[in-house]
Amino acid sequence: MEAKAGDAVEIKLKDESINGILMPEETDFSFIKLDNGYNLGIKKRNIKSINIISKKKTKEGKFSKVKKNKKLPDITILHTGGTIASKVDYKTGGVLAQFKPEELVGMFPELGDIVNIKSRLIGNIMSENMVFEHYNLIAKEIKKEVEKGVKGIIVTHGTDTMHYTSAALSFILEDLSVPVVLVGAQRSSDRGSSDAAVNLISACIFVANTAIAGVTICMHENQEDDKCLIIDGLNSRKMHTSRRDAFRPINKNPIAKVNYKNKKVELINIPKIKNQKPKLKLRLFKDVKVGLIKSKPGMYAEEFNSYKNFDGLIIEGTGLGHIPVLESDKFTKENKKILNTIKELCKKTVTVMTSQTIYGRVNLNVYSSGRLLSEAGVLGNYCDTTPETSYIKLAWLLSNYPKKEVQKLYSKNLRGEVSERSENIFLI
Ligand code: GLU
Repeated sequence: MEAKAGDAVEIKLKDESINGILMPEETDFSFIKLDNGYNLGIKKRNIKSINIISKKKTKEGKFSKVKKNKKLPDITILHTGGTIASKVDYKTGGVLAQFKPEELVGMFPELGDIVNIKSRLIGNIMSENMVFEHYNLIAKEIKKEVEKGVKGIIVTHGTDTMHYTSAALSFILEDLSVPVVLVGAQRSSDRGSSDAAVNLISACIFVANTAIAGVTICMHENQEDDKCLIIDGLNSRKMHTSRRDAFRPINKNPIAKVNYKNKKVELINIPKIKNQKPKLKLRLFKDVKVGLIKSKPGMYAEEFNSYKNFDGLIIEGTGLGHIPVLESDKFTKENKKILNTIKELCKKTVTVMTSQTIYGRVNLNVYSSGRLLSEAGVLGNYCDTTPETSYIKLAWLLSNYPKKEVQKLYSKNLRGEVSERSENIFLI
């Protein structure tokens, strides 16, 4: 019998044999998932034989049907892909799985004591591949669920760009009356060190026990497995490549802390709640072009000029919001050209300053460079919005308003992305 994706197999090579779960093959390679969770690609021509140890376990009969508990709130989990989805992926042979409630409760049985789940797969994408159209798609699926009257929605997502998506949804979903919580995992569900269960279950605990509307991110608070932070979707950022507590709140305290062990929620920084709850509206993204450029020692005018045909540009300046625009000696002649390029750019393209320090507020009034940039028409003065949220905000504004209006609206606090007073938090 020929081995199929999902079967437990032994692959025999010339001098060794490897055991694991067979994954879908690609042109010249066969892939196997090892017991430690890693995938191994093996050149097909080096394989002597593949022996089946046991056939793929089918889903049927593995998970019993979950009964609705009338005392528990109804929530929907929408899956978009990423590491958090990887267990089900490989078990089903890498083919898209339908994430049925019984499968999820089968994987994480505690969920059944917290909420009634409806769950569906709306995509299977690594988050670095997302474009604005994906944000629109997720928002439309969220709207369908809100209209069904669920208590909250959880979106599972790849972590790389989860903070861009949370910002995008915060702008798209106008008058959102329920919690929308984005959850990812730094380690896949089939690894001993996985954070998937704690993050997902904590998000459910938050939705079940609070009524805080808005888009948030739920990920590990620290390297232990006992607490998660609920972070405002506009003020969150992935700050580590691999740690499970990679997502940190920026310039704003977290909304809440969820204790996974005792299932309690500690509220920390509750957003202002609107008394009236008008109907949810979607203000979607259009196909606009916005650039994001980081300033560094040794900039060239040419670098900025490459964005001349874009609709908008976010600059990640240094410090309070600077780029090299002052000619101070014989080595800095390029800076004059940079200033002229910025002046030209500001006439055609909405150009915004943010800071690569990540924490803190832009202030273009302190140093001459800042003043020159302000005079040239660079926006963003006094904003404490992260470069990523700024990028999303500018793209969303350009999608929904004419350029003149975008220039007026950019520095205003529309959804909580610009704070009046900076909360003095740093690397918590
Ligand atoms: N790079 C992928 C993504 O962001 C996988 C990483 C993850 O899910 O954490 O979708």
